[in-house]
Amino acid sequence: MTSQHLKNSVVSIHSRIREYPEVFRNDSGIMFCIYCDKSIDWKHKSTIDSHVNSIKHESNKRKYEAKQQVSHQQTLQTTLRAADSKKL
Ligand SMILES: [Zn+2]
Repeated sequence: MTSQHLKNSVVSIHSRIREYPEVFRNDSGIMFCIYCDKSIDWKHKSTIDSHVNSIKHESNKRKYEAKQQVSHQQTLQTTLRAADSKKL
């Protein structure tokens, strides 16, 4: 019997990362949370889910996204300043 071919038992770091797009990265076989910069055991879905649902992860995610926005805004500011000077 090929029980190891059941969907749930065939799990790799790649399939895990695909399950949570843009949350984790593969660093030489170790799964890292992009937001927390923390290694997570990818073998157990429960470990990942409890990390993803943790308050710490949520706040790190918000910080990360805010940082992304700041660098985006800095490029926008030049354009906005030009628009402001037109108004004045
Ligand atoms: Zn995290």
